Amino acid sequence: MSEPKILPAWLDADAAALAGAEPPAQTLAGALPGLARAQSLAPVQRLQRVRESGLAESSGAGESVALVWRQFLRGHGPSALVIDATGLDVRARGSAAVLDGAPWLLAEGLAIAAGLRDSRTVELRLPAELSGHETAFLNAVDAIRSLAQVSTPRMQVEVRRDSRPGYWGEEQPSDGSRLIHTPETWCRIALLFAGESDLDALLFTLRRGMKQRGLVELARSGNLRSQIDAWGGGVEASGDDAVLVFDDGLGGFLPLAEADLACDPLSFASVGIVPAPSSLMVMAEGVCVVKQTRRALYRHWQLADGIVPAPVRPLLARAARLTAEITLGRGEPGHLVTLDEVALELAAQGLAAAWTLRSSLRYYREQWEQHTRRESCPEGLCLVRNPAPCHGTCPANIDIPSFMAHLGHGDYRATIEVIRRDNPLPLTCGLICPAPCESACVRGGSNGAVFIRPLKAKAAEHCLADGGYPQPELAPDTGKRIGIVGSGPSSLTAAYYLRTYGHQVEIFEELEHAGGQLRYGIPAYRLPPDLLDQEIEQIRVLGVQIHTNATVDSLEAFRKDFDAVYLGLGTQKARLLPVEGSHLPIVLGGIEFLHAVRSNEPVRVGPRVVVIGGGNVSIDVALTALRQGAQHVDLTAIDQRRNMAASPHDIEMAVSEGVQLHPGWGPIKIDEDGGVTFQLCEQTHDADGKFDPKYDPTRLLTLEADHVIMATGQGTDMAILDGSDVEQYHHGFIVADSQTLMTKEPGVFAGGDAQHGPRLVVDAIRSGKIAAAAIDAWLRGTPMDADIGKPVCRDDVSPLPVLAQDRTYRPRAVMPERSVEEVLGEGNYVQVEKGLTDAMADDEVRRCLRCDVCIGCGLCMAACSEMGIDALRMADTTAPRLAYFDFTESEACIGCGACTQVCPTGAIHLEDRDGKRRTVITGTVVKEQPLLTCSECGAPTQTPAHREYVRRRLPDHMAALLERELCQTCARGRGDRPHVGATPRVAASESIPQFNTPIKQ
Ligand code: SF4
Ligand code: SF4
Ligand code: SF4
Repeated sequence: MSEPKILPAWLDADAAALAGAEPPAQTLAGALPGLARAQSLAPVQRLQRVRESGLAESSGAGESVALVWRQFLRGHGPSALVIDATGLDVRARGSAAVLDGAPWLLAEGLAIAAGLRDSRTVELRLPAELSGHETAFLNAVDAIRSLAQVSTPRMQVEVRRDSRPGYWGEEQPSDGSRLIHTPETWCRIALLFAGESDLDALLFTLRRGMKQRGLVELARSGNLRSQIDAWGGGVEASGDDAVLVFDDGLGGFLPLAEADLACDPLSFASVGIVPAPSSLMVMAEGVCVVKQTRRALYRHWQLADGIVPAPVRPLLARAARLTAEITLGRGEPGHLVTLDEVALELAAQGLAAAWTLRSSLRYYREQWEQHTRRESCPEGLCLVRNPAPCHGTCPANIDIPSFMAHLGHGDYRATIEVIRRDNPLPLTCGLICPAPCESACVRGGSNGAVFIRPLKAKAAEHCLADGGYPQPELAPDTGKRIGIVGSGPSSLTAAYYLRTYGHQVEIFEELEHAGGQLRYGIPAYRLPPDLLDQEIEQIRVLGVQIHTNATVDSLEAFRKDFDAVYLGLGTQKARLLPVEGSHLPIVLGGIEFLHAVRSNEPVRVGPRVVVIGGGNVSIDVALTALRQGAQHVDLTAIDQRRNMAASPHDIEMAVSEGVQLHPGWGPIKIDEDGGVTFQLCEQTHDADGKFDPKYDPTRLLTLEADHVIMATGQGTDMAILDGSDVEQYHHGFIVADSQTLMTKEPGVFAGGDAQHGPRLVVDAIRSGKIAAAAIDAWLRGTPMDADIGKPVCRDDVSPLPVLAQDRTYRPRAVMPERSVEEVLGEGNYVQVEKGLTDAMADDEVRRCLRCDVCIGCGLCMAACSEMGIDALRMADTTAPRLAYFDFTESEACIGCGACTQVCPTGAIHLEDRDGKRRTVITGTVVKEQPLLTCSECGAPTQTPAHREYVRRRLPDHMAALLERELCQTCARGRGDRPHVGATPRVAASESIPQFNTPIKQ
């Protein structure tokens, strides 16, 4: 049994290529033992080695790899090696772990096979859901190329993203033009040539929940539990109640306590698990297995598209639909009875979904019963309606779908009103927020996340140009006075909301201008001071007094003048790394450098500047240095580029302005003559995720600098707290209650960077909002609003009408920016972004999928599939939820309305107008078709397609009765014909439950 293998740091192309450093003097045999051995073998000898091993393909029917190789060797002409990560069965998720966890092994397997026919092309087929998982593999190929001894140094990799099920099951072409294997098999080939492969073992991918992740070999004869414990320290969760999830739930669920079994197919099958699982994830006790089952069943349903016979597909849809209803709190005990029957039928049909459903029902019956009794869900999440992912992820919890819908309706004032319910600084955030909401946007799984951030700025600009923001209603004056120290984003936010609660608020700022970090820590090319002034003015006009050049020396004295105090002190002091030479005069602190520049001090740096950092502040420092005299700026970070804290967009901007990036290096020494020495960081975190950098002291990088600027951390001057009861952590931030933000001193509250440490501006806004609610509650002696700090729906705005083509295909807008020539140059702080045009903003809001209205439960799709129509296609997302990405593929819709009966929110509905029936999903018409009318009363009845659907399912003598079109009322009146409004169900043993009550909010 082999241990999980970890990608050696030197194989990471980021470190080697971007630092301009050479790979170490590694021998091929040491780095790639399988390839080294293969190079001494002729192609037929390589085939012989595979034949002797009896190696079989890791999926499908387990074809002999030797047979496939023999066919390939007989081919002539150009040849390609194919990594098929689309999976012949349910293994795409396992493939993701191989691509991420063992990319070098994968590349090594390809390099071995490349020598069979001097193949120069590699095709990587990725399904849509694995898009982005190719990066580590591409890096590994680059690194292998850089080893001179490799026989095929010009191997070209073509990534075919969005490879659709059409590829699935493609056989090896008989002309030998391609050699196709799954990622697992390619890795197995590398292990085989390295002599490490146990042929009686399954290649197995360890995923989330294991202390160590990656590929291992699962010995068939070994005990599963012992092997799990032996793999790099076992599972992360403690206790026997952890849940083993095989193949992402597609292979079934098993309690860890039941894992005392052999790993042969019979043993797996005997406990209800897929006989040859390919990946394992471990979830801690308390996860909702019912929810996981729902997800896996939908995945089975999607994978079965075009593969399982049409009559069986509705069975999968039924399993998914019943499970989804249970997770939405709409299940009855009868659902479980039916699910048991469906599980048996799935097994009888030989469908893999039986492993998922049967194991879940068998081991987690209690959870299922709790759900059907609507008592509880272990995670407390299943039975409630979750907010849209963007809404839930925004630290300020702005109701994003609602404000975007207002913007799409052209109502800028309503847009700003919705945003300011949670964030009083829409313009500032619209210009500078790194937008965590966009990282969570469901649309990111299709053609780019909705560009949420600049839409706030767009609405703000319109309102400011039109006389200012709509102002909130102020509660009656309470007569209470609140003093706020500092005028950064958390203080401004606290002041705004405290004023709306009816209190008198005064802000004390020791500097010349208000704004704190917004003014002194963010360069003017991102946030021009005049725009910040306009936004602060919108808070001042509420009656908030802002005193500048007003120093507060002692909290104790200050406290006496106010009923409550809020400390929004911010972080103004740089924290320098304790490396040799950090005390030298050429070393500056990043935040102090920015502060000096924004205070119009005559700061000049360079001509050579080295910036040490990796976060957004370091990018600001690097780009500011270029505007303050630097000719050449090197930016170093201890992390690899993909792990740097700075946003990818900001990193790209820095590179485009000429900043030289050096990821993966930690500083060790700064010389007086300006030489800065770094050593290669091989690993930044240990297996438990703790920061624990490991360096290679033999790999050094030296950069020359006239100034070194460290953007490596920030702290606060806490002199104001002397003599007070307010406590500080050992790392220098203020201790405050996590719920109320009140310090140890009653009536003194603290938030923002000085309390939670340096974070995003929007995090500071969040703490200002929470503090305001807590102060208000404390002053009134009432409990704090329980919804503060949670995503709350602020408005009920109907979805925008959007054409299906536009909704489906319009890509994310690209921010118009000034050219590098326009923005660079000493003292040039012209704004880089030009902002979206009105037309761009209008298009962008229409890309929103309205995840607040369509909750992604998939019931509509399942109901339609159960009908045997299959007109709806949703995609799986990382949210986790389903989503409509393609609104153009509902041609098969017959307008029967089965989907609308099950939809718990009304997100999908039918509209009858002008003699036509439209099927509408969150504002988009996905199908329009004519309506028939009653031959007696003329009322609209049904679509011709629906009528045909019913006719085909009726016996001939009853179908004849349909010849005269009648509405339900007239048909009932005649009493001589079937009720055509009903929709006969496929293999129905029960009807779709009716949903008359909204799900819990
Ligand atoms: S699609 Fe719209 S509602 Fe859904 S996460 Fe993205 S922005 Fe939010
Ligand atoms: S109305 Fe159309 S989409 Fe809805 S269930 Fe009927 S056929 Fe399917
Ligand atoms: S349209 Fe309705 S039923 Fe379909 S996924 Fe959205 S919320 Fe669920």
